[in-house]
Amino acid sequence: MPGYYMENFGCRATQADAAAIERRLAERGFRPSDAADADLVVVNTCTVTASADSRARQAIRAFHRRNPGARILVTGCYAQRAPEELAELDGVRWVIGNAHQHEIAKIAAEPAGTAHGGAFVSIDQLRGVPQAAGFAADDAFSLARGPAKILTGNLFEQRDVLVGPIEQGGAHTRPTLKIQDGCNHRCAYCVIPHVRGRSRSLAPERVVEEITRLACAGAREVVLSGINLGGYGRDFALRTSLADLLDRVIDETPVERLRLSSLEPMHLTADLIDRIASSNRIAPHFHIPLQSGSDRILAAMHRWYRAEHYARRIELIAERMPDAAVGADVIAGFPGETEADHRATVELVRRLAFSYLHVFSFSPRPGTEAARLPGAVRPDEIRERSRELRALAAEKAARFRASQSGRVTRALTLQTIRDGATDALTGNYLTVSIPGVWRANEWHTVRLRELAAGNLEAERVSCV
Ligand code: SF4
Repeated sequence: MPGYYMENFGCRATQADAAAIERRLAERGFRPSDAADADLVVVNTCTVTASADSRARQAIRAFHRRNPGARILVTGCYAQRAPEELAELDGVRWVIGNAHQHEIAKIAAEPAGTAHGGAFVSIDQLRGVPQAAGFAADDAFSLARGPAKILTGNLFEQRDVLVGPIEQGGAHTRPTLKIQDGCNHRCAYCVIPHVRGRSRSLAPERVVEEITRLACAGAREVVLSGINLGGYGRDFALRTSLADLLDRVIDETPVERLRLSSLEPMHLTADLIDRIASSNRIAPHFHIPLQSGSDRILAAMHRWYRAEHYARRIELIAERMPDAAVGADVIAGFPGETEADHRATVELVRRLAFSYLHVFSFSPRPGTEAARLPGAVRPDEIRERSRELRALAAEKAARFRASQSGRVTRALTLQTIRDGATDALTGNYLTVSIPGVWRANEWHTVRLRELAAGNLEAERVSCV
């Protein structure tokens, strides 16, 4: 039985793709193996920043050094965006774009490359004829050498969502199920629509079937994810919505807790907030990308809301669910961002009830509109603005944790055990420490207690 090793970079959606690929490799007789012994190494890449690209290239070089006999297959968003850069690395046998991920197991099982017949394009064949590889005529190519074969294509014709729930840490603890892929928006800084294609959703019956299967196999919490999760169901001839899907999952499956990954602000309707607030089986946890608190910068980014629209939605969550976790993404140093724009972001973050923030320093991605915009912010200013936002985020996270002291809530044990205590996750996304060694994936009712600034201990009240 051939062995494979898979290395994943990037977001939950990339990890969900990896789980689907692994499911198909297992069906073809591959078994998981160490990187040093594997016949096949699959590198599933991310391209959201320049450093993500660089990490993927470093990993590929390291795999080849460690196991020169392994066939390396590179896939994911970087493979879709710039296959020729990856094809020229030593040891890379195949570069497979996101549009063809469903064929990876078949291709790897037939190493002579017969699986895809003439549709494969060797990097040498690309010289001067980029369209031959299924690229749009305006895609940029740099010529490259090497034996790697490239298979990519028009993602915008893609209609399927690859399904394979991610079993995080084994023991069915909090699997993630990707129910939507792609995005129809064109935020100026974002490369994702170029590498993931148009929005498409998994049929509601498939979602119900997959969640039922996971719950019956022991999963207590299932995380629903997507590239643009709030756009769920808009691609169906008979349009549906995420709110309707949630009703169906709650009614038709035994899952004990559902959690939603990131939602764009315009998808966070009052109706959706109400439905989450009125269910004790949907985690009170919202991740709502903000990006900037300046209307001028939001407009330049082609974000479709303004700071006050965003603020009203976060305030509505706080009214309906005062203990909910609310997180956001913020970009520091978008081209043209002045000190006044940055201050607007800082003030908005200060005002709203965030429990955590992900702060990104702007870096231009090839092919995006932002990469061509004038007004680049100096790197030292970007660093300083990011630092200020991260310090504010840490302050707000500590305040949120302190506000939970004394509360009695349920927490689900995770895999991590440290100093005789077991980590567990609350509905509102707090990782707390329960004294004692407990099996993963168990509910415990706990009383939260602040030990030191922002540091919570969970005293066990009962095991339900
Ligand atoms: S909504 Fe904007 S940031 Fe999010 S994936 Fe789509 S284009 Fe990118």
